[in-house]
Amino acid sequence: MLVDLPPGLDYNEWLASHTLALFDHINLVYGTISEFCTMTGCPDMTGPGLRTYLWFDEKGKKTRVAAPQYIDYVMTFTQRTVSDETIFPTKYANEFPSSFESIVRKILRLLYHVVAHIYHCHFREVALLGLHAHLNCVFAHLTLLNQRFNLIDPKETEILGDLEAALLGDSTSAPSQTLAIQETPTTTNTSSSTT
Ligand SMILES: [Zn+2]
Repeated sequence: MLVDLPPGLDYNEWLASHTLALFDHINLVYGTISEFCTMTGCPDMTGPGLRTYLWFDEKGKKTRVAAPQYIDYVMTFTQRTVSDETIFPTKYANEFPSSFESIVRKILRLLYHVVAHIYHCHFREVALLGLHAHLNCVFAHLTLLNQRFNLIDPKETEILGDLEAALLGDSTSAPSQTLAIQETPTTTNTSSSTT
C-alpha cells in the first residue's frame, strides 16, 4: 500500500519521492558504520554470494575500488543527480526528463549495492548499534518499491532473495505484515529474521 502509486499523482513524482527517501535513509545507516568500512578492512566492494562490484567511471571503464571509495562515488553521484534541477525538478513548470526512469533505475541499483555491502560486511556492527531494524526497514522499502515497479534487474537482487523472503514473505498475500515492517521498524517482525 505504501508504494502503490496514489491516484492522480505523477509516476515520476512518486519515483522521485521514494528515491530521495531511500537515498537519505541508506546514507544515514551507512554513516553509522562508515568508520568500520575502511580501505584495508574492505579492499573490495563485496556483497553476498562472492559478488564484487566494479565501478564504471564516466567513460564506462570498469575499475576495482575499495568499498568506502565505491560508496563515496555512489553517494556523490546520487547527491549530484538529485540536486540537478534538470533531472529532479522542484520548481513549477520544470519537467522530468524523458530519461528520468532510467536514471532512477541506476540510482536504485547503486544504492542496492550499498545495502548489500552493509549486510554482507557490516551487519554485526549495525546490530551492535541496535540499528538492524532500521536497516531491515530500509531494505524492505527498497524491495517493495522494486517489486511494485520492477526497477532493479533480478540478477542484482537475487543475492538477498532469502532475506527478502524472510522479511516480507509473499508480499502479495500478506499485506498486513508488510505494512507492519514499514511502519514500525522496531517490532520483532523486522529484528528477529536475520539475527
Ligand atoms: Zn565495508
